[in-house]
Amino acid sequence: MSFSKLELTEPILKAVNLCGYTAPTPVQEKAIPKALAGHDLIATAQTGTGKTAAFIIPALQRLSKPSALTKRSKGPRVLVLTPTRELASQVTDAVRTYGRFLRIRSGVILGGMPYFEQQRLLSQPVDLIVATPGRLIDHMERGRIDFSRLEVLILDEADRMLDMGFSDAVDTIAAATPASRQTLLFTATMDNAMIKLAQRLLKDPVRVEIASKKITVEAIEQRIHAADDMQHKNKMLNRLISDSAMTRAIIFSGTKKNADQLARELVSRGHAAAALHGDMPQSARNRTILNMRSGKIRLLVATDVAARGLDVNGITHVINYDLPKNAEDYVHRIGRTGRAGATGVAISFASSKEVDFLHQIERFIGQVIPQQVIPGLEPARPLRRADSTNRPGTASVKRWHRGSAGSRNGQNSSPKNSFASRNDNRRNGDSRFNREEKKFVKRDGGKFSDFRLSSRPAREGRWA
Ligand code: AMP
Repeated sequence: MSFSKLELTEPILKAVNLCGYTAPTPVQEKAIPKALAGHDLIATAQTGTGKTAAFIIPALQRLSKPSALTKRSKGPRVLVLTPTRELASQVTDAVRTYGRFLRIRSGVILGGMPYFEQQRLLSQPVDLIVATPGRLIDHMERGRIDFSRLEVLILDEADRMLDMGFSDAVDTIAAATPASRQTLLFTATMDNAMIKLAQRLLKDPVRVEIASKKITVEAIEQRIHAADDMQHKNKMLNRLISDSAMTRAIIFSGTKKNADQLARELVSRGHAAAALHGDMPQSARNRTILNMRSGKIRLLVATDVAARGLDVNGITHVINYDLPKNAEDYVHRIGRTGRAGATGVAISFASSKEVDFLHQIERFIGQVIPQQVIPGLEPARPLRRADSTNRPGTASVKRWHRGSAGSRNGQNSSPKNSFASRNDNRRNGDSRFNREEKKFVKRDGGKFSDFRLSSRPAREGRWA
């Protein structure tokens, strides 16, 4: 099927063609026609399936025609709710990309950003708003949002929104919008809470289900170590790499700078280590990979650039010094071990700041990664793990033994009864809702953006 069969308007088709997409992805092929026909929709699709375009394209198509409402209102015609700032900015990018030839006005409403610009955005006619629930409610309570002409409500990663305690907020927002609206719900997982949410908010929805990508991580033994801080991570790393069963390992770092620094420290302590990241010239990268293949390098400290496409056999361990921000990257990273039928070990450090990434990863791979502690290096604080109903198991903490780092061929060399298990699930209270908003702000420190989409110059004063 080609995009031209989807009956999209010319400006959208042109924008999609510019992206170089040859055909709609399965979720786009199924969801776009239903959404264009005005149906409410529940789409089960993970990130990476092209889901953002699956809801943004029909929303933009609607905005390419004038509002059917004659009454004067300046509120948004489309509202996209996302659980996080990161996702909000991805959606915003998609609006820019697919709407580049349309004349629409859109903006974002995110927690932690100055109110002034958001008030300015809301004081003028706006077509599409991407928002996180907390701040949006704040504006609603101050009477700054008029939802009377809202036509489409989109919930992106609705399961994550529920996980993060936004259920009441989503209900409040939906209740403030016209009952005649179209609602599109996108979620990676479908559980009871999600079914109930859909029953509350959607009318006679069409289900679109995209089969989860089969992720073959069965041959890889995975575990998590809770980390208090970088120092704690360094101590755990030192202990792990002293294991002779670790014959060839990749240590993933979140930044190029840290990858360089960590590699230098490991070399200074006498380890055969090197860094691999995107700032290195290609020739240096090739040399490092060759040295890894030949066994000259035992510990490769890499950023995600090495996760995709790096083909080195015999990698016994992958260590996520920092968790990846993207769940798919986790699978790519750990896939560097356990290649060609061999088993491998994937060890991840997770600090309290990385708990959200951990949840995302666990949802994506459909399993809870067991937690272990290294004797003598127990974390000062337990890892805060949300008690999520859609996760397939419970998280427990086990004691790590030197031998268990080198478990090969699927056998764990630690005797089962030597593990001290402790349930580590924690409930998150309602206050999390506000805490999350604050946390995202701290983590990102991004800027509020109020942008205009137009291929033509703006008329003075109109959209400024
Ligand atoms: P998403 O699942 O929305 O996060 O999208 C994942 C990636 O797929 C994004 O980088 C999109 O640019 C890309 N993408 C979306 N639709 C298509 C398509 N039809 N063909 C190829 N890539 C696409």
